[in-house]
Amino acid sequence: FDDRDGKIWMDGEMVDWRDAKVHVLTHALHYASAVFEGERCYNGKIFKSREHAERLIASAEALDMKLPWTADQIVAAKEETLKANGFENAYVRVIAWRGSGPDMGVAAKNNPVRMAVCCWEWGNYYGDAKWQGAKLDISKWKRPSPETIPSHAKAAGLYMICTMSKHAAEAKGCSDAMMYDYRGYVAEATGANIFFVKDGEVHTPLADCFLNGLTRQTVIQLLKDKGVTVHERHIMPDELESFQECWLTGSAAEITPVGQIGDWHFQVGPMTREVSDAYEALVRS
Ligand code: PMP
Repeated sequence: FDDRDGKIWMDGEMVDWRDAKVHVLTHALHYASAVFEGERCYNGKIFKSREHAERLIASAEALDMKLPWTADQIVAAKEETLKANGFENAYVRVIAWRGSGPDMGVAAKNNPVRMAVCCWEWGNYYGDAKWQGAKLDISKWKRPSPETIPSHAKAAGLYMICTMSKHAAEAKGCSDAMMYDYRGYVAEATGANIFFVKDGEVHTPLADCFLNGLTRQTVIQLLKDKGVTVHERHIMPDELESFQECWLTGSAAEITPVGQIGDWHFQVGPMTREVSDAYEALVRS
């Protein structure tokens, strides 16, 4: 991914894609002191750009890291990067991290906090067969308790178990994995939140130990505006067989229908299509 044409915004400068490098003693590389955002630009406008910038700042604060950029500056950096690459429709990745500096132990108060903005064209997160319904494995890794790690932040360290879960899922021919939380409740996928439909009502796990996705919040609002009852609650695994539809939400995943989780099957049904259409219309409006 590092060998391609394009521009990357790095600490306020626009650099060539191939030159956007960091030193091997970067603190984040050793201790996961990094936070990031994944967003999409539709027809020249990033959906919820400011909310993503504010979340990045909040994630950094959760890691005791002060970003040297304001939300306005982050929003402007993203626009500048899209313009420099000539993209109207693209995925945008912003990352902030503790760089290399005087400290090379666990503590890194004196190391610079750095930031980069990258963008590239990215189609369906789960590939072209989206409407066949994704097949999910069930991960052996559990979303950790908020007392273990700042689980509400979008922080690099939280993704280690996601990568392992996704690798295990792909080895079984699945496109992703559903993860339970530390209590055994249904939590989310490795990079997307999860929703279920039962008899015309929507059920989604309470976001009390994982990322409360901006897409999740958007979809809940869209459903409520349509008069659909949404239950945000703890969901037990043995309830899965009673749900008729299931979909994932995320800035990259958008609305992705799920056809199967482990041995449970779901129909790619009318509510999933309605939510997907409403989301598409909103992000492109
Ligand atoms: N959970 C995880 C672990 C994620 O990585 C993402 C993607 N950012 C989401 C949920 C969905 O968040 P959002 O809708 O804000 O993209």
